[in-house]
Amino acid sequence: MSLKIKHIFLIFPIFLLLSFNTTAQVFDIIPLGCSGGINDDNLSAWLVKASGSNRYLCLDAGTLSHGIKLAANNGHLPEAIAADTVTPLVWMLRYGIGAYLISHAHFDHIAGLVTISPDDTPKSIYSSHSTATILTQHVFNNAVWANFTDQGQPPRIGRYQLKELTGDQFEPIEGTQYKVMYFPLSHANIRSSAFLIKYTDRYILYLGDTGADEVEKGQNLQNLWLKIAPLISNQQLEAIIIEASYPDPRPDALLFGHLTPSLLKKEIEKLRSAIGSNDAVQILSKVLFIITHVKPVGGNLNTEIIKKQLEEYDIRGFRFIMAEQGALYRNDYFKK
Ligand SMILES: [Zn+2]
Ligand SMILES: [Zn+2]
Repeated sequence: MSLKIKHIFLIFPIFLLLSFNTTAQVFDIIPLGCSGGINDDNLSAWLVKASGSNRYLCLDAGTLSHGIKLAANNGHLPEAIAADTVTPLVWMLRYGIGAYLISHAHFDHIAGLVTISPDDTPKSIYSSHSTATILTQHVFNNAVWANFTDQGQPPRIGRYQLKELTGDQFEPIEGTQYKVMYFPLSHANIRSSAFLIKYTDRYILYLGDTGADEVEKGQNLQNLWLKIAPLISNQQLEAIIIEASYPDPRPDALLFGHLTPSLLKKEIEKLRSAIGSNDAVQILSKVLFIITHVKPVGGNLNTEIIKKQLEEYDIRGFRFIMAEQGALYRNDYFKK
């Protein structure tokens, strides 16, 4: 073999390795609950972890125990299923979930955390200052529920350490290899949160309940889009989990701080503008959008209606799936 050919053989695997690293998906995403109400066995809660790690973050905690059982039955929590002395739920509480991140304190985002707290192991709860305050004043206050946190009304059990996110930087999430940056969202009369999760140089974005900027008369989503646009351009952002609670049409006065498909469309178009380049459509299409928090109205789950409306709007570069409880999603969803 000539020296030249030998070099090609040496260089080629290195090239493959480099190209694999820039495109490989890292995050596993499991909705433990993803409806926007009524069904108390399917309320907002998401597990995310880096592939190959067995440490999860739990983003919101509306439905925990039922969602974990469902995900385990679907074979998506292999370490928990493999444990032979404890149930998958107990394994997840003891070893799987490294921390909770709570977007806001509405009950459909914390009910599972409250009910599971007597059986939980010590963990940190990351949130904004306003969410932490609501949790200690109105939930873990020894009247509504025992104070399992380390702040607020004594006696404090201290099982949960409340960690407040300030929002201007990535902060390490204790007991895990992940970092988080918090962004404020406007959700009718309260402040909700988006969490940008970082692992090595890869990211996913989770948005708690949010209204559109034009309805909420603010700039929170626009600020978020400007911040994440460079990550999308660099193909480092794998997925965006975002709500579409009600189908169109719906009057602004009845949105209660939520999105419809038409409002989501406008926000995606703003995000695409924030990316800015000529190939923004193609770049945006590398991101997997997971649509969640569909609210049942009159007993009907509107998932199919919202899916159809989003398809009909044909938003350029926007590739989405409707979240299904207990499923496992990765960025390569559309490549399979
Ligand atoms: Zn809410
Ligand atoms: Zn909600």
